[in-house]
Amino acid sequence: MADVGLYGLAVMGQNFALNMADKGFSVSVCNRSPDKVDATVARAKVEGDLPLKGYKDAKEFIESLSKPRKVIMLVQAGAPVDSTIKVLSEFLEAGDVLVDGGNEWFPNTIRRAQELEPKGIHFVGMGISGGEEGARNGPSLMPGGPKEAFELLKPILVKAAAQVDDGPCVTYIGPVGSGNYVKMVHNGIEYGDMQLIAEAYDILKHIAGMTNDELAATFASWNQTELQSFLIEITAIIFTKKDDLTSEGYVVDKVLDKTGMKGTGRWTVQEAAERSTPAPTMACALDARYLSARKDERIAASSILNGPAEFPKVDRGQLVGDVMAALYCAKICSYAQGMNLIKAASEHNNWNIDLGECSRIWKGGCIIRAAFLSNIKSAYDKNGQLANLLVDPDFAASLNSRQNAWRRVVSLCVASGVACPSMSASLSYFDYYRRGSLPANLVQAQRDFFGGHTYERTDRPGTFHCLWDDSH
Ligand code: NAP
Repeated sequence: MADVGLYGLAVMGQNFALNMADKGFSVSVCNRSPDKVDATVARAKVEGDLPLKGYKDAKEFIESLSKPRKVIMLVQAGAPVDSTIKVLSEFLEAGDVLVDGGNEWFPNTIRRAQELEPKGIHFVGMGISGGEEGARNGPSLMPGGPKEAFELLKPILVKAAAQVDDGPCVTYIGPVGSGNYVKMVHNGIEYGDMQLIAEAYDILKHIAGMTNDELAATFASWNQTELQSFLIEITAIIFTKKDDLTSEGYVVDKVLDKTGMKGTGRWTVQEAAERSTPAPTMACALDARYLSARKDERIAASSILNGPAEFPKVDRGQLVGDVMAALYCAKICSYAQGMNLIKAASEHNNWNIDLGECSRIWKGGCIIRAAFLSNIKSAYDKNGQLANLLVDPDFAASLNSRQNAWRRVVSLCVASGVACPSMSASLSYFDYYRRGSLPANLVQAQRDFFGGHTYERTDRPGTFHCLWDDSH
C-alpha cells in the first residue's frame, strides 16, 4: 500500500510526487489525461527508480493507498478542483485526508471543507511555493486544515519541504482556508518585491545609464548584502543572458514589456481592502502590471505626453548606493503590509496564525526566500504582538538610517519623470505611519460639512457636529 497519493500531474504535481518518492515515501499518482501518468512513471524510473506507481483509474488509485488515506491534488484552481473532488470523494472514507495544493481562493477551500465534512473527509488547503524547482527539490508548504489531518501529513511534509538552518519550510498555519490565505499574501509580497526590483532596474538603466553587464554586476553584489534573496540572484543572472535567437544583444531587452498574472496578487489587494489594511506597495505593483498590459495605449501616449526635458545630473556611485538603500526600505514596508494583512485576517477569522513561523517557512524553497526573513522572524520572536514591523527596534533603525537615501531616490525619480510607484508608495506609507497627526482632520471636517457625519475632537470626548458655513 502506498503512503500518499498525488492527483494532477502537470508541472507542480509531477515534481512534487517525485520529490516525495525521492524522500523514501511510496507514492501513487493519477491524472485526468493518462499520458501524464506515463510521463511521471517514466521520470520516476530515470530519476533513480523511485517508489512511484501510476494509475489511470481513480478507484484503483484511491484503493492503492494505506488508510487513513492521504491524497494531494494539484490541478488547476477553481472548477477543476470541484470536479476532481467529486471523482475522488466517491472512493474516500471517513478519516481520510484530501489536500488541495493549488493556488486557491480561500473561501472556495472553506466551502469544500464544509461539503466534505458530512462524509468525515478532512480537507486541507495547502499553499505550495517554489514553482517547478521547489516542488521537485523542496518547496515552502503552507497547510491549513484540521490539526489531526496535519499530524497525519506531517511526516511526509517535513521531509518534502525545503530545509533551512532553522528547520523544514513547513508549519501548521491554522484552520482550513488559512494556508491558502498565507500563500496568497506570499504571492502579493512577491508582486511587490518584483516591482521594486524592476523600479531599481529602471532607475539604474535610464537615469544612471548602466549597461546589462553593469546591472548584472550590481545586482550580484547586492546579493551579498542585506538584500540577499532569490529574486535579486535571478535578476543578476537575467542580465547576463545573451540572445541566441538573433545572436545579437541580450534576451532581457527583447522581452515584451507586458506583465502577465494569474490572480493571487489581485486577491491580495482585494483582501487588503476587505480587511481595511493598507497595502499600497502591493497595490502599486498590481497597477503597474495593469498599466504594462496597455502597451498600445502607452505607445500612443508616448508621442503626446512629455516628461522633463532632461535628467538632473547624478553621481553614479552615490545613486547605486542610494537605490540599494531605497530598495531595502521599500521592501521592509512591503513585508510589513503583508504581515499585517495576515494578522488582520487571522484575527477576523480566529486563525491564530504565528507570523514569525510564516516568515521562517518562507526562508527556503519559495520565490520570496531572502536573508532578511530571519530578521522578520526575530522581530516577532521578540514581540509576538508587534503592531507593525516598522516599529521593531532593528527595522526602525534600518529605516531611520537609510531614509535620506530613499528620499533622494524618490525625489530624483519625480524630477526625472521615471516612475517608481511601489518605492514611493512605500515611502508614503512610512511617512504616514510615523506621524502622530495627519490631515485626516480636514477630511473628517469635510465629511461633517456635506454629510453631517460628525467628528470627534482632540480636546474633549464625545461626538460633534457643526454648521460649518455661517452664510447658510
Ligand atoms: P495547472 O496548469 O494549473 O493545471 C493543470 C492540471 O490540472 C493538469 O493535471 C490537468 O489535467 C488538471 N486539470 C485541469 N482541468 C481539470 C479538470 N476539469 N478535471 C481534472 N483535472 C483537471 O498545473 P500546475 O501549473 O502544475 O499548477 C497546479 C496548481 O498549483 C495550480 O493551482 C497552480 O496555481 C498552483 N501553483 C503553480 C505553480 C507553478 O509554478 N506552476 C506554483 C505554485 C502553485 P490534464 O492533464 O488532464 O489536462
